[in-house]
Amino acid sequence: MSDQPVNFKDTLNLPSTDFPIRPTATTDDLRLLERWQQEKLYSSAMQAHEGKEKFILHDGPPYANGHIHLGHAYNKILKDIITKAYRMMGYHVPIIPGWDCHGLPIEHKVSEQNPGATPQEITRKCRAYAQEWVDVQREEFKKLGVVMDWDNPYITMAPDYEAKIVEAFALLVKNNVIERKNKTIAWCPSCATVLASAEIEYHDRKDPSLYVLFEMDTNDAKKLFPTIDKPIYFAIWTTTPWTLPLNRAILIKSNTQYDLLEVNGTYVIAGASRSEALAHLLKTEKKVVATISAEKLAQTHAYHPFVDNLTVPVIADESVGLDEGTACVHCAPGCGPLDYEVGVKNNLEIYSPVDPWGKYSRDIAPHELQGMPVSDGQIWVIKKLVEKNKLLHKASITHSYPHCWRCKHGLIFRATRQWFFNLQHVKERALEAVDTTINFLPEQGRSFLRATLESRWEWCLSRQRSWGAPIPALLCMHCDYAFTSFEFIMNVAHNIQKQGIEYWENVPVQEIMPPTLTCPNCTSSDFKKETDILDVWFDSGISHFAVLNPAPLTLSLSRGQSFPADMYLEGIDQHRGWFQSSLLTALVIEKQAPMKTIMTHGFTVDEKGQKMSKSLGNVIAPDDIIKKLGTDGLRLWVASIGHDGDAVVSETLLKNVSEVYRKIRNTCRVLLMNLYDYDHTQNAVPLEKLHPVDQYALHILNQLHTTIIQDYKQGNFTAIFHALADYCTTHVSALYVEVTKDRLYCDAADSHERRSVQTAMWYMLDTMTRLTAPILSFTAELISDQYQKNKQQSIHLQKFSEQVPVSQQDSILWDMLLEIRSAVLKAIEPYRAEGVIKQSLEAQVTVYLDPALKNYAVLEKFLDSLKKQGYSLANFLEDLFVVSQVTVTSSRNSLAESSLKGLYLRVEHAAGTKCPRCWKWSTKVDSQGLEPRCAQIVNKK
Ligand SMILES: [Zn+2]
Ligand SMILES: [Zn+2]
Ligand SMILES: [Zn+2]
Repeated sequence: MSDQPVNFKDTLNLPSTDFPIRPTATTDDLRLLERWQQEKLYSSAMQAHEGKEKFILHDGPPYANGHIHLGHAYNKILKDIITKAYRMMGYHVPIIPGWDCHGLPIEHKVSEQNPGATPQEITRKCRAYAQEWVDVQREEFKKLGVVMDWDNPYITMAPDYEAKIVEAFALLVKNNVIERKNKTIAWCPSCATVLASAEIEYHDRKDPSLYVLFEMDTNDAKKLFPTIDKPIYFAIWTTTPWTLPLNRAILIKSNTQYDLLEVNGTYVIAGASRSEALAHLLKTEKKVVATISAEKLAQTHAYHPFVDNLTVPVIADESVGLDEGTACVHCAPGCGPLDYEVGVKNNLEIYSPVDPWGKYSRDIAPHELQGMPVSDGQIWVIKKLVEKNKLLHKASITHSYPHCWRCKHGLIFRATRQWFFNLQHVKERALEAVDTTINFLPEQGRSFLRATLESRWEWCLSRQRSWGAPIPALLCMHCDYAFTSFEFIMNVAHNIQKQGIEYWENVPVQEIMPPTLTCPNCTSSDFKKETDILDVWFDSGISHFAVLNPAPLTLSLSRGQSFPADMYLEGIDQHRGWFQSSLLTALVIEKQAPMKTIMTHGFTVDEKGQKMSKSLGNVIAPDDIIKKLGTDGLRLWVASIGHDGDAVVSETLLKNVSEVYRKIRNTCRVLLMNLYDYDHTQNAVPLEKLHPVDQYALHILNQLHTTIIQDYKQGNFTAIFHALADYCTTHVSALYVEVTKDRLYCDAADSHERRSVQTAMWYMLDTMTRLTAPILSFTAELISDQYQKNKQQSIHLQKFSEQVPVSQQDSILWDMLLEIRSAVLKAIEPYRAEGVIKQSLEAQVTVYLDPALKNYAVLEKFLDSLKKQGYSLANFLEDLFVVSQVTVTSSRNSLAESSLKGLYLRVEHAAGTKCPRCWKWSTKVDSQGLEPRCAQIVNKK
């Protein structure tokens, strides 16, 4: 024997792999993306699952304007995770990405960049602009590893799709839900144009501040205040006297009290919380004659102060403010957006006799106002009020007022003819669908969608713009009567399918006008084309019809989808948007909700919970995260977020995600490293012959499998994130790898004991790789490249593994064994701290299992069966505790009770010497110091 200890390292089965510890995401990810492209991953997946049960996730279209932001990435990755998971469950999962292309933001940009361009040029340039961004975004989405039918997206500006939009509108017309009526909109009288909210600027402006008297109907007054024989007035406050001729109601605040005040001999009603301020303003003492509830006042009417024979209702409404004025508000539904809403809710006339240049038109009463600019109307009204003795008080006010972004003039609000989707009946059915047929993930989505539907009174479909699908109708040039019909619109739709919306722009009216058409109102036969276009929400809202519906009425666009979709998955803000527009249109067109499940997610926010925005400077781009964590890191971050909260991006969270990623990757790597000489087809141990620990490991693996598949089905990716992290840490690193080390590294390479571990590890690696593939799409592909010998197809074309058919393990028994294990480790700890034992293999443990031990009978039965299977009880426990020697005694003499009741232990330094090969201690060593097991292996070689 030489002095130099012999090196037995070469006789061990040391782990080995060339799979790197750290990902080289920048190169690997790009390489894989290219490979998937070459392998035609999406179409291969379609072919592979053709004919299987379908799972349809219908992609909501992002707007084709600008680079994708983190919110887009988050949404698309979620969709990718869920569709990949369903494919791996064996479903046929076609998914067609969409883009929303029409609408104001693009028209704006293009108009700004091309001043003086003709409408035709604008349309052409809008098309080019949107197409450019579709292409950019498509590449950006692909880079995230998202697998969709990128070559055949649905694009709302494609002539096919534009035709479907118009066809859907035709069907609404056929179903009698389209109507044309007044709506109050922001209007610039100097530009003579409507303004979108983005075009309105707010500036301070000085206006008159008037307190005007509306006399209560004498009969109502008698009923409410029988003792007062003088007129009773509502004191209303207004800063736009020109709108008083358009008054159609008085609003008061619901559920509050009102005072009847005596002011210099006049009886005046004002909100009780405002009467003090009113008295102060009028420089009198507050003299309350009576108090009365808003609900009682709401049953009354009042005479208009200067329009003859006009009586207006008093309406209690939540919207009335209590911090200025008198809590009695003048309501003119034809010239104020809030007044308009109250008007629609209460069936008031939307009265707006104002022409495009801001002059009173011919329907105005009093007649003498006809043709007068409303700016002069301000003065006229004040004079009239004074003359009629209805002006209680006059002052002026400087307040923030809407102005035109182009000409900087003050705006007015006026009602114009607009096209509406009448929600009267469909709303009820939508609420019913929300309550009964649609599933929500998370469940609280149900009440969000319900609330947004309930607060929706109408859907104005028309926009005074040019970049969008037309409303095919003809307008009488004399009386503004609108002609349209299902057949008329369908004819337009057919032509749009060939020529795009440009058809409507270009076609001469004579060519499309039915030859016999005359106006039923004025018998004129002079018609012009409607120039309003459809709301862009209508475009995306009918995607169920354009993309999902396999039985289109006339225009075939079917792409192997089916109606209804299994799932719509969008941000929570779509309760107000796409979910609603889709549901409402589908209930009329297909008579059914377009989705079975609505899954929602939150907004992407910074660590303070603030929404990311350019102005706050807290925007994080998807690329920023990819640079730090790799593409799979970004995808894992997506999975880590609960779907009922906001998607927070913070250093801490990203660190945690990267930690979990490292853990999963490392666990897979450890498994991979120990399978270097294992061929599953050759070396697998039959499951029933696996070592009990290995059987148990597979039992735990099966539990993980069940949980994760269930979580994928429910879109509960956070649970998957946590389950994987926990599995890798608790079950693999801290337990399984520890207790199998000796068998794996030191037993003979081809021994049953070692092959048994490898068999279990192969199942663990295979199951884990597949389970993580929908999320860690890149990593899983690379790992499967390693362990799948002769790999034929991408991991994303494979299925989740089946449960390993290992016999059911008794969890009571294994919980017990693990409790015993931790009690032993705990008992060794003090020796380690004192330096008596440097590592657990230097320990020997004597064990006595008292019948008082919990579940003793189960344990005893198991230990008996071990012997019957030919395992040494001592060996089993040595491996389980990772110590060199275990003796099980039949007496507790000289043993101490451990932290586990009924388990008695004695810990000592192991006897004998340390085997230089396996580091286990033994008293039976050979001349080289090897204990019998190692001696046998070494001598054989
Ligand atoms: Zn203007
Ligand atoms: Zn007419
Ligand atoms: Zn040894």
